[in-house]
Amino acid sequence: MNVSNSTTSLAPPVAERTGTVLRDIPLPPYVTAEDAQFAVRAVVVHAPRRWSGGTVCRNDASPHPCRLHRWGTRVLALRGLRDADIAALIERGDPAAALPPRPPA
Ligand SMILES: [Zn+2]
Repeated sequence: MNVSNSTTSLAPPVAERTGTVLRDIPLPPYVTAEDAQFAVRAVVVHAPRRWSGGTVCRNDASPHPCRLHRWGTRVLALRGLRDADIAALIERGDPAAALPPRPPA
């Protein structure tokens, strides 16, 4: 019973392979205060750094934004922060910065 697989080896993979290497870290279903605080630390510690040839992560030297930075940004966006709020946090560079109050839903 192996008839239906005869063309599989000739077909290109369905999913694109690019991007699977740096698969994103799954987001929490609900952003707790702890998640948000960890996200602040992630974006601050994994801040962009100018480097010859581009911008890299200050912490792990992978191309910016790295996985943790992306994760932190998305968690903070889920938490209700705007891009400008997140940029301000990164600029401040304080990994223990207090978050602005959660906006009303
Ligand atoms: Zn990083």
